[in-house]
Amino acid sequence: MATIPEGVTLLAVSKTKPECDIMEAYEFGVRDFGENKVQEMTRKYEALPKDIRWHLIGHLQTNKVKYIAPYVHLVHSVDSLKLLQEINKEAQKCNRVISCLLQFHTASEETKFGLLQDEAVQILESESYKQMQNVQICGVMGMATNTDSTDLIHQEFKHLKSIFDFLKNNYFSDNQSFKTISMGMSQDYPIAIEEGSTIVRVGSSIFGERDYSKQS
Ligand SMILES: *Cc1c(COP(=O)(O)O)cnc(C)c1O
Repeated sequence: MATIPEGVTLLAVSKTKPECDIMEAYEFGVRDFGENKVQEMTRKYEALPKDIRWHLIGHLQTNKVKYIAPYVHLVHSVDSLKLLQEINKEAQKCNRVISCLLQFHTASEETKFGLLQDEAVQILESESYKQMQNVQICGVMGMATNTDSTDLIHQEFKHLKSIFDFLKNNYFSDNQSFKTISMGMSQDYPIAIEEGSTIVRVGSSIFGERDYSKQS
């Protein structure tokens, strides 16, 4: 792996990987782990050291928020007001403030989840959001198209950075917590870092390729 500069967090994406693999990275000093399934993350949370910071990076259904609310460190995948409301409600029950990122649709592929900038503006200007006491929006998350075109990847990460800057200037200018740009995966994290990423989500470059055929 290329080195990760200071100021950029390496999030080790451990989805589908066994607990022993996570412990190996843990012994090496890694404390931030990313999972995309609620059940799998909760099982690993219960089994593994409690100083691990668990990041939910996959699409989150509202009916599953309650399982992660007691312990999740950062939800990267907030893509609706409804989901944010649910996170706020469950966080309140746990007497916590849950940190969240707004996920944006920046790739040209249709299958990826995420908001458009205008939709984020609607959330941030809603009365409902303004009332929320138990969520903290800390920044943005996005994925680039899976492509060999480095130009396109640069362009998409620049776009996400421009959304971050727009939101920072218009809604979070006096909020120190709004500072996170979660972008870059194994294929494209060096480009993401060039474009201003503060968290890279790296799975296969750390743990090896995932084998979905072994999943139960
Ligand atoms: C799986 C996944 C990653 C990591 O992908 P790799 O290509 O294995 O580095 C990063 N972000 C999200 C949202 C993922 O689902």
